[in-house]
Formats: sequence, structure tokens, C-alpha cells
Amino acid sequence: MKNLILDIKYYLLFLIFVLAAFFLYLNFGINFDKNYAPEIVADAAFRDQIILNEVKDEKIFEGSLSKKIKVDKNDTLIKILGSNEVESKFIKALIKTKGSEKLANIKTGDFIEISFSEKKIPEEIFVTRNGLKGILAEFENNTYTIKNHERIPEVIERFASVTINESLYQSALKEGMPDSVIMDLVFIFGWDIDFVFDIRSGDSFEILYEEYFYKGEKIKNGDIKAARFKRGKKVFSAIRFFSKASQTKEYFSTRGENVKKAFLRTPVEFSYISSHYNLNRKHPVLNKIRAHTGVDYAAPTGTPVRSTSSGTVSFIGNKGGYGKLIEIKHSEDYSTRYAHLSKFSPRLNNGSKVEQGETIGYVGQTGLATGPHLHYEFRVSGNHTNPLTVKLPDAKPIPEVEKQEFLNHAIKMINRLDELFLKFYAQT
Ligand SMILES: [Zn+2]
Repeated sequence: MKNLILDIKYYLLFLIFVLAAFFLYLNFGINFDKNYAPEIVADAAFRDQIILNEVKDEKIFEGSLSKKIKVDKNDTLIKILGSNEVESKFIKALIKTKGSEKLANIKTGDFIEISFSEKKIPEEIFVTRNGLKGILAEFENNTYTIKNHERIPEVIERFASVTINESLYQSALKEGMPDSVIMDLVFIFGWDIDFVFDIRSGDSFEILYEEYFYKGEKIKNGDIKAARFKRGKKVFSAIRFFSKASQTKEYFSTRGENVKKAFLRTPVEFSYISSHYNLNRKHPVLNKIRAHTGVDYAAPTGTPVRSTSSGTVSFIGNKGGYGKLIEIKHSEDYSTRYAHLSKFSPRLNNGSKVEQGETIGYVGQTGLATGPHLHYEFRVSGNHTNPLTVKLPDAKPIPEVEKQEFLNHAIKMINRLDELFLKFYAQT
């Protein structure tokens, strides 16, 4: 009997304990909910954020979850957001956020990307020019933060094998190559191949190039990594290499020669040669024998004239029959002259550094000239030379210290081209 009473006592005690625990549990739960309320702060921006919070429980946003808008003339950020389903409370919250002036500083041609949540919250607003770098407004914990942002894109490798039928451009487009990559190809091989006169139907090339993607969307075209051009029986290769020694990105042949030459073929694009280098020419203005120590390129007044190589301006000004003249010294041995210019690039003075291909002046007919043209001279060790026949020096090859690294890389790239080339033909 005594045992039984004892047992009941324990039993009751246990029951009370369980009930008490349950009561406390319930109570705490309710209390927690009741007592929780956001702190009231006298900051209007914060109040907006509390209102924003309530939106989360509203109906699901049925519009497109992401938008990309190109900024037009006279656009403002507010105008664009307002006409793209961003509710005014978000716009107000944005304006009040620190850094909003950076976000609002949009320019024609920029892109504004808006990512909505399913509940219509514009969670990301990204202002960018190139799709990768820009200013990002991010909505998190009911508040916007605005900061500089750079997206890490995915780099996709592409391969194309193209046999030229009608034109290089048309044939490359047919294989899906983007415009800018075709242009790069022409530029890279343009030092060795004249794409206007040298190309025949049946010439071909293989190319490995890059494309940049972000979240499955193409952002931009990338560089050519490697390419091989077969013109008749000749094969030209170009392999991209980042030099740590010179901090540059350049293209080299498989032997490590720079694909570029130290000098451009011509100082004026879209021109024709109106007078060749000729030491016994009768001068058209003076009407007596006077050596023509350069090459004349006929082009309309105002056509840009580019420096055929990098160097330093050693003369800029008027000089007798030359008219407006620029002389550029490229090395101890090489210098070039550009005469009869209508005007100079305003940036240039005596001693200015110029890059290869940089516009230094404009075609004109100052000095002794019968019509607008550029008179171009090429001097080696102070002596006039025919710029069309002189053996132009190559641009700098791979530096010795990086040669082995380059060759290893080149082998990899050539193997990759071969491998993809075989796969490509196995499929077709
Ligand atoms: Zn001339």
C-alpha cells in the first residue's frame, strides 16, 4: 500500500512537471510573438523599409523577373525605374540610400538591369556600361545598399573552322563568328596577309576564341586565344601570350616572333598611292628634276594620318615645301616624316611620345603640293629609303626569359586547335 501511494505521488509529480513545461512552452511562444515589434525610429528612411517589408506577403509578381534597359538620351534613373514596374516606394528608398547619386549618374548607352523577386521586389539594380563593371543597389534585410560592383563572368572557349568561299567575312559569319572576332583576326594576320589581294577561295583558318557570359547570358566577345591561317601552301599561326616581363598581351608565331611589325604598312587608311619613291622625278610644282624621296598617298583633306610606329616627335611645324610637317624618331636608326598636313593633333609637341597607329595629324596640301595628299618619308640612319620596299623590322619577339613558358603554352594551343579541328571534321 505504501508503495502504491509512493508511486501515485511520483506519477502526479511527473504529470505536474509535464503540464508546467507545456504551459511554459506555450506561454513563451505567445509572449515572443506578442512582444516582438520593430523598434520605432524617427528616421523616415527606416519607416519606408518597414513598409517595404509588408510587400513581401502580397501577390506574386507576374512581370518579367529581370529586365535590361539601355539608357537613351534624356533618360533619368527614376524615369527608367518608374516605367519598368519598380514601385515608387522602392524608388524612394533608393533615393534615400547612401551612394544613390553614384547610381543615378547614368549616361547614354549605359544599361540598367533590374532583377525582381517573385514578390515584385527589385532586389538588384545594376547600372553598367559593359555588363560586368558598374554600380549595384542590392536589397537585403529590407534595406538597399549601393556599392561599386564587378561581376565575375564565365569565359567560354569557342572554336571555328572556316573555309573561305565568297569572302572571309561572309564565310566567317556563316560559321557563327562574331564581328569583333573577325576584325581581330584580320588585324592579327594583317601584318603578313593582305586581306584585299592575297585571299583565294579555299584558303582556310581555325580559330580558338573567348566569349564572356554572366548567368547564361552573353556579355561580350573576348579575345582570340590562338589561330592558324592557311593561305595557299603557307601557314601562319598566332598565339596570344600575356607577358609578365612587359605587362602586355601580344600575339606571337609558334617560334615566338611577334606577329606585328615595328611599322604599319601605310600611314593613311583608305588611300591610294599617287606618286612613288623616285629619285629622278620631275617635280609637278617646280617643274624640274627633283628626287621624290617619299611616297604620296592621295586622300581627302582631313583624313587622319597615323604614326606608323611608336616613337618621339622630333619636329612639328612648318618647313618650306613640306608645309606642315611632323617628324617622328622611332629608334637610333629609324625615323619617319609626314608632310603637307592640314593640321596637327593638338596633343602633340616636340618631344611628345606617340603610339603606333596613333593619329598625329590630318591630310592637307600645305607647302608645295598640287592637291591634298600625304607625303610620307622613311629614313634609315638618316638616309631616305623607299618605305614600300624597305625590309621593315619586326616588333619585339618573346623576351628570352619567357621563351620556354611561351613555347609550352604554344604547344598546348596548337594541340588544342588540332584536336578541335579533328572533332569538327568527324562531326561534319
Ligand atoms: Zn611627295
